Amino acid sequence: MRCEWKKPVTMQTVRHSEHTLKTALISKNPALVSQYEKLDAGEKRLMDEAFRPDSNLFGPITLHSQSDWITSHPEAPQDFAEFFNDPYRKTPSPQKHSIYIQCIGSLGNTGSISEEYVKWFKGYCEAFFYGLTVKPLEPVPVSATRCSFRINDNTQNLQIHARQILKFLKKKKPEDAFCVVGIIMIDLYPRDSWNFVSGQASLTDGVGIFSFARYGSDFYISHYEGKLKKLQKKSSRDYSVFDNYYVPEVASVLLLQSCKTLTHEIGHIFGLQHCQWLTCLMQGSDHLEEADQRPLDLCPICLCKLQSAIGFHLKDRYKGTRVPALAVLITWASSQSQLCEPPKASAILPLEPG
Ligand SMILES: [Zn+2]
Ligand SMILES: [Zn+2]
Repeated sequence: MRCEWKKPVTMQTVRHSEHTLKTALISKNPALVSQYEKLDAGEKRLMDEAFRPDSNLFGPITLHSQSDWITSHPEAPQDFAEFFNDPYRKTPSPQKHSIYIQCIGSLGNTGSISEEYVKWFKGYCEAFFYGLTVKPLEPVPVSATRCSFRINDNTQNLQIHARQILKFLKKKKPEDAFCVVGIIMIDLYPRDSWNFVSGQASLTDGVGIFSFARYGSDFYISHYEGKLKKLQKKSSRDYSVFDNYYVPEVASVLLLQSCKTLTHEIGHIFGLQHCQWLTCLMQGSDHLEEADQRPLDLCPICLCKLQSAIGFHLKDRYKGTRVPALAVLITWASSQSQLCEPPKASAILPLEPG
């Protein structure tokens, strides 16, 4: 559900002690401590930024309003040891080593814009989930999913049933898939009684569907072009309303927001829960403004979780030449976007010993 942005009355900071952050990162488990000890000097230098009080890479979480996630959705924090010992989390294996992206319907006004968009996602996710292969599936029209759809009573925009899309993705999941994520420019709803949902995932099935419709700068304006007066269909299987249905312009801000959403949500499929330690991509968000305030990358505690799940070397992930999409996006974001904070150097930090 979308919460209206409330101006902060008092800004609060969630600041943990050096000891708490160090334990959350390294734990007291001797096996995990020895894993940390095996990091080289450069990698340790990055990880230790988590608990350095004067770190200029990672800071405490700032709460801007009462509707921020931590205030409105109290959850138990998950440290590295809890993640590591979670018997239900999914880990990629040599046999299941690919993230598949299924584009459903048009992402842009032309086929080539949609293709470019998917290429961005592929590059971005391969940099982020370093070591896994990201493979786009052949795009499909909405009709291929056989899902239900409706017009939202409040916003009059077209919406499709997210859970039915998940069933479709589960059926299509290739043998070597760690997960399949569907991306779509049409708004979603999870059940009839709900207003909308921006995405939904099944961790057990390793599938997720995410809509970027509401990232269009015009979604909430009164003359939004995606509004429909009446849903005219000849049968429940008449999908002609999706032919030439409005898609927002793929502007840079939309691209940035959707890359952040996609990596956050795939993070959940790995078993990463919402971060309550430091400013981090895995912080929960209850509204677009809060999502925009999240940084592009993970804090060291969440990075440690992802690293143990995929098994990459930290310095390989951050080597400038290997993360062009991340580096380009960060450069762009710092020069143009008013929506995000200045880039955290962690994404391009050289990790050579020294
Ligand atoms: Zn989340
Ligand atoms: Zn984190």
